[in-house]
Amino acid sequence: MGHTFFIFFATIDAGVRQGDMNAKAILSACLDFFFEPRCFACGEIVIRNSSTCGAARCFCPICADALIPLNTPKCSVCAEPFLSAAQDHLCSTCLSHPPPFERVVATFEYGGPLAQAILRYKYAPAPFMAPELGRLMRVSTLGNVDWVLPVPLHRKRLAERGFNQATLMAKEVCRQTGGQLATHLLRRTGHQGAQVGKTKKERIKNMKRAFRVVDPRGLLAGKRVVLVDDVVTTTATARAATRELIRQGRASSVVVLCLGRAAAVS
Ligand SMILES: [Zn+2]
Ligand SMILES: [Zn+2]
Repeated sequence: MGHTFFIFFATIDAGVRQGDMNAKAILSACLDFFFEPRCFACGEIVIRNSSTCGAARCFCPICADALIPLNTPKCSVCAEPFLSAAQDHLCSTCLSHPPPFERVVATFEYGGPLAQAILRYKYAPAPFMAPELGRLMRVSTLGNVDWVLPVPLHRKRLAERGFNQATLMAKEVCRQTGGQLATHLLRRTGHQGAQVGKTKKERIKNMKRAFRVVDPRGLLAGKRVVLVDDVVTTTATARAATRELIRQGRASSVVVLCLGRAAAVS
């Protein structure tokens, strides 16, 4: 224990001397020391310090290695991952039904340790994971951002879970982009029923008119909106929400930002 204490204080001391630790970083190092950070997926202890960044802050080395960054090949608009293709191109859904959003920006393919982490975050529930998960989102490609809107949960779902997973992640997106958080401008209209087990077509039909914009002061008009969700699967939700943001809210453009992009099952 004495040895561990020595390492802990030597790390803090070195960090302060190098000027790379502020009060917040010191507090976070103290919390890490007394409440050992655990891998979001498998629960293994994660060794990290003030310079550890990215997925290594949330996942053990084995789980971090198993994450699949969503690079190429994918759909250049909806970011659906392709199993085999040389380069990004439009998927058949985006070709036949162009989505109203500009594009989907995702960090990882959904599955493996990412799926474990997100399920734990939502259903354990573990809202403390939100800032770290939010920091993994690819905000650097977003450009200018006016409003950051989490995909709203239905009232009933929100009451069951106690928090909206997208809202907590959106707060981190605001911190990094300078965009303003709005949780009141977009609402769910009614209970759409479960999306699980439905085909892509059924999900899109199910989501029609699932959202309503409440913006009497016209705050969204002409603005660039980032719509935040933890996972995007069929894009049915993102399409329905974007349609309302553009039709009712007169937003100039909507970019969908998520952590995991799942391949849709048609
Ligand atoms: Zn792990
Ligand atoms: Zn697509």
